[in-house]
Amino acid sequence: MKFEPKYVFDLDPNVKVRTRFAPSPTGELHVGGARTALYSWLFAKGHKGEFVLRIEDTDLERSDPQKTEGILKSMEWLGLEWDHGPYYQTKRFDRYDEVIEQMLEEGLAYYCFISKEELAEIRAQQEANKEKPKAPRTYRDLPLSEAKKRIAAGEKPVVRFKNPLTGSVVFDDAIRGRIEISNDELDDLIIRRADGSPTYNFCVVIDDWEMAITHVVRGEDHINNTPRQINILKALGAPIPVYAHVSMINGDDGRKLSKRHGAVSAMEYHREGYLPEALVNYLVRLGWGHGDQEIFSREEMIKYFELNQVSHSASRFMVDKLQWLNQHYINNSPREEVAKALAWHYAQAGVDTTNGPALTTIIDMLGERSKTLVEMVEKSRYFFEDFSEFDEAAAKKNLKEAAIEPLKLVKEKLAALSTDNWTKETTHQAIQDTAAELEVGMGKVGMPLRVAVTGCGQSPSMDVTLEAIGRDRTLTRIQQAIDFIEAKNA
Ligand code: GLU
Repeated sequence: MKFEPKYVFDLDPNVKVRTRFAPSPTGELHVGGARTALYSWLFAKGHKGEFVLRIEDTDLERSDPQKTEGILKSMEWLGLEWDHGPYYQTKRFDRYDEVIEQMLEEGLAYYCFISKEELAEIRAQQEANKEKPKAPRTYRDLPLSEAKKRIAAGEKPVVRFKNPLTGSVVFDDAIRGRIEISNDELDDLIIRRADGSPTYNFCVVIDDWEMAITHVVRGEDHINNTPRQINILKALGAPIPVYAHVSMINGDDGRKLSKRHGAVSAMEYHREGYLPEALVNYLVRLGWGHGDQEIFSREEMIKYFELNQVSHSASRFMVDKLQWLNQHYINNSPREEVAKALAWHYAQAGVDTTNGPALTTIIDMLGERSKTLVEMVEKSRYFFEDFSEFDEAAAKKNLKEAAIEPLKLVKEKLAALSTDNWTKETTHQAIQDTAAELEVGMGKVGMPLRVAVTGCGQSPSMDVTLEAIGRDRTLTRIQQAIDFIEAKNA
């Protein structure tokens, strides 16, 4: 009997490259995982290939459908759309079982009756002898018929793969070069547990085979699994994909990236106000490069990216560089796109933007002053929301008795402008005229006015700010500031 793959989807004969991303849904999509997914996606796109998404949810205790949902959302947010899937390993148990049965029949796998307790004892002994822990091959040659008798009598064995006893596994990692592991370092891997569930390494093998994956791009933490997986693929007569193990991402201190460094998942960067293009651009450069180019469009990434140019050493995640890229994309992406992302953040912050300037105007005004969209939201609340308190330091400095006269006069001049005639130019003129009439510098009018209409000491230039805030709101707020000063002095 020959092993025939049951392909999970129809194979397009024109597709020569097929990659996959295979997250375990035990948490949010980590930036390391996001980068792996990106590299996998880019390689597929760059070779007119297909990208498959597979959810490795066999660990029922740690997997969570909500986490899956989050990972899918993050992938969508990053623009890493998949051509096939998502497929769920938990929905393929019957198929895994079918292959295991066939392997038992073919003598490629065997029932092993060593109990967990016995195995633990053997392991402890091996450790005490400073030997590498390896499961003994006691039952490797027990005839299948004998094993079946014991099962009929109520025993519950695991199923182990018959790993080759001699020779070695050699593969050319696309990132790390040649890797060779001697078979006598590998024991006979459990492929089905005593409770009947298939094990992780086995599911991966069957899936990579039946999803016709040509290039496996994954984290270097899986490098030890690769020789075992290759041996099973060989036993099935399945093609061996190219493997590419991507290095880890560390924090800026060179230690494993973790919560203590700040955000670690794509979702968190989304929530903190980063644009997906910035994160994607940052991640692609973290471990890969094309000359000294820093900014890449998607098309350029797809065109230039190659797996064999990926660095095999660990990278350091530098938030300031990501911020720099984010600001670049805030200011250089199509305004409408950024506005859409920004709208989401206003909603998150509970800011109603129906009464106020267009969000594209906000980006024009604040793009150069904000590293993230969250920062932009915080710096622009006064365009949409009235306030009754002023920033303390700004008020102390600028809302003093001496400000009453300029505020009253500028209010009078601004009030003379009709709504239709309320522009950058006319409001600027009003401020200038006020300063001239009072024979003071522009700042003596502009600063109190700024604090009056924005509540704080910093904002885009006054004319632009006034135009965006609008006539009626401006006049009300100037009056509020005058009242504030008068109340304080009374
Ligand atoms: N499910 C594995 C993980 O999330 C990936 C395995 C693989 O890519 O082969 O680490």
